[in-house]
Amino acid sequence: MSRLDSLHAALDELDASHLRRVRRDLESPCSPHAIINGRTITAFCSNDYLGLAADSRLADALAEGARRWGAGAGASHLVCGHYAVQRELEERLAAFVTCERALVFSSGFMANMGIIPALVGRGDAIFADRLNHASLIDGMLLSRAAMHRYPHLDMAALERQLAGSRAKTKLIISDAVFSMDGDIAPLRELMTLAERFDAWLLIDDAHGFGVLGPQGRGALAEADISGERLIQMATLSKAAGVSGAFVAGEATVIEWLMQKARTYLFTTGSPPALAHALLASAALIEASDERRAHLAALIKRLRSSLAQKRWKLLPSRTPIQPLIIGSNADALALGDALMKQGLWISAIRPPTVPAGSARLRITLSAAHTADDVDRLTEAINRLED
Ligand SMILES: *Cc1c(COP(=O)(O)O)cnc(C)c1O
Repeated sequence: MSRLDSLHAALDELDASHLRRVRRDLESPCSPHAIINGRTITAFCSNDYLGLAADSRLADALAEGARRWGAGAGASHLVCGHYAVQRELEERLAAFVTCERALVFSSGFMANMGIIPALVGRGDAIFADRLNHASLIDGMLLSRAAMHRYPHLDMAALERQLAGSRAKTKLIISDAVFSMDGDIAPLRELMTLAERFDAWLLIDDAHGFGVLGPQGRGALAEADISGERLIQMATLSKAAGVSGAFVAGEATVIEWLMQKARTYLFTTGSPPALAHALLASAALIEASDERRAHLAALIKRLRSSLAQKRWKLLPSRTPIQPLIIGSNADALALGDALMKQGLWISAIRPPTVPAGSARLRITLSAAHTADDVDRLTEAINRLED
């Protein structure tokens, strides 16, 4: 077979197992009320939990940032592509999550790919929840440290793995809120184990930042844990509504990451206009208690009104509310049936989730109304009968 023929055959195989993905082109800004092919639909699939991505105050801040700072950074941060507004953003974020220092990356994926190999290498060991995000898995592979993956949330298994390791440096890694399940890691237990076995603890709070904790300070603020071995990262592309990510912790740790994280060193600095917009976003997140209360009410409403006769919701108190369907084909068919009624929920299939657990990943946003949620639950309940 020629090279192209073998790719064709592999793509056909994706089709046959209902794993081929398609993109839909949005014709409107990010909102639960989106336009696709000229038709308005109600979307339950973005991570824009506070409804800030298309907020006019953020759009204005981005435009103002572009007028003040231009479009591009011109170079990597350590050469000549770092701007005063970015220092200001890092100080703001560090104070917000009560850490000594923060470092902003261009994306969450790049942050995780940079942080992990900067902390551990050959001869060291990583202990990671099996359902961690792909960027954590890839960062782990890149580090060349020994990998121990423990069953989801299984602290007893983690403890056994830590006790059995003689590695020089140990690093425990977990999502705070699991992106495809919506449940929350036992953060206090993780910290206790990290202390007992003298390990670093890296927590990815992509889905907790802006949503959980007082003023949206995140899952770690909610769990009230801190310490020099704790390193937290969060994206600025989800609840924060813009783009980028940050890592925060003890000042020496952050200085080390700035010196060594290759995805920070060898990439062009992110546009300073984004930092200007993100300063506005930080202020909006802090002042969004009402949005968070509305979001919590929507989560409660969804969970209490879905009949769950055949398709069950996973236990989750976050805006990520997965409805487990089972087979890839069934999840796709249900997604299609809902789309016909103007309701858009993405069907999540392997390898993003384990085989046999294809699901509709319902995500809620403060920009949804109670009526949006009612239309969704009524449609799913009718299809389930
Ligand atoms: C989305 C996500 C990332 C990647 O962040 P981006 O800024 O989108 O690159 C990393 N970790 C988790 C848990 C995520 O959900």
